[in-house]
Amino acid sequence: MGHLKPALPVALDLTGRLVAVFGGGPVTGRRLRTFLAEGAVVRLVSPWACEEVQDLLAEHPDRASWLQRDYAGAADLDGAWLVHTATGDADVDARIRSDSDERRLWCVDETDALASRASVLTSTRVETPDGTLTVAVHADGDARLAATVRDGIDLALRSGDLDLRRHRPRETGWVALVGGGPGADGLLTTRGHELLASADVVVIDRLAPRGVVSRLPASVRVIDVGKTPGHHPVPQDRINEILVEEAERGHGVVRLKGGDPYVLGRGGEERLACEAHGIPVEVVPGVTSAVAVPAAAGIPLTHRGIAKAFTVVSGHEQIPTLPPGTDHTLVLLMGVSTLRDTTRILIDNGRPGSCPVAIIERGFLPDQRVTLGTLADIADTALFRRVQSPAVVVVGDVVDLAHS
Ligand code: SAH
Repeated sequence: MGHLKPALPVALDLTGRLVAVFGGGPVTGRRLRTFLAEGAVVRLVSPWACEEVQDLLAEHPDRASWLQRDYAGAADLDGAWLVHTATGDADVDARIRSDSDERRLWCVDETDALASRASVLTSTRVETPDGTLTVAVHADGDARLAATVRDGIDLALRSGDLDLRRHRPRETGWVALVGGGPGADGLLTTRGHELLASADVVVIDRLAPRGVVSRLPASVRVIDVGKTPGHHPVPQDRINEILVEEAERGHGVVRLKGGDPYVLGRGGEERLACEAHGIPVEVVPGVTSAVAVPAAAGIPLTHRGIAKAFTVVSGHEQIPTLPPGTDHTLVLLMGVSTLRDTTRILIDNGRPGSCPVAIIERGFLPDQRVTLGTLADIADTALFRRVQSPAVVVVGDVVDLAHS
């Protein structure tokens, strides 16, 4: 069994504190980046510096200085709170280490990790709306083991599997408008998962990804404001009020919406309502069904030689203003109930009745169904097959590329 060196993990706030750094190679570059990101003042002593180090020095002229020479003795440690050496010359590093010891300064010696009494731990962090969460790993000098464990923890932090909710009361809460994607769990962003793991309250839509919602811890309060066709939806004003009220009670609130919050999702209104009450809001984009659901049926919205542009619409008022060519792809959201009128107006405005059309119901969900036809016959086919919302309608030549 190896002999373990005692090591106490400690968190240092380096803001405004001087770190004396020796050596100009890539190891120094990595650390320099960290120290500067932590707000430290850095003084580099080294006869040369690699490109990364030079760039970092140039980016932070206010907090980084460079004495372009060799280590000149203990006076080079003056004023430092922490010392970092990676000169590549073991003798020089050892001298810097022992001079630091004499001055009771902590010295990280990258060249001889075993002799060094201080080390910078491999770490990962998540920015939650309540602050930064950092997890650091000490593996007794085994950098690869530390990185493996760090990566495992990183995965857990970002997957939403770890409950990151805060246990200290907050003065004010926060709201995050999170785009949930078209319904499949895998299409929610990592940032979305991180925020869900930090939320006390989750306000969901009918189209929010249900799998993700079902795995939330039981103590997370889920408020369903979902609209089912034919049922009374919670009015938008009331949804805005719920977000504001919950945040004002000090809760962290995720508003989990289908697709992208800013694509026919009234996300802009929700953000403005929160901001009007001084509540901090983060908006996390989502994979919009307008683009993704056609892809679930194998339909690219643009394709070399077939279509160069697409338009997303949610009603028919705009149709007369759209390019009529079948090489301009049209995507209709919320278009099922008005499909017959829409196809008629499209034909009246110059699109050929033979133009291909696809309807993709419940894209990315287990019961996804695709109905193909033309502008002339799709309304009848949809009626016959009892096509229902939610569905995305795609009109244009690209429909011919659909999976058969
Ligand atoms: N903000 C959402 C769109 C909300 S409007 C987004 O960016 O995706 C609601 C419409 O989105 C539905 O009527 C339907 O046209 C479409 N939609 C959303 N999810 C869908 C899915 N999984 N399958 C098919 N259509 C979907």
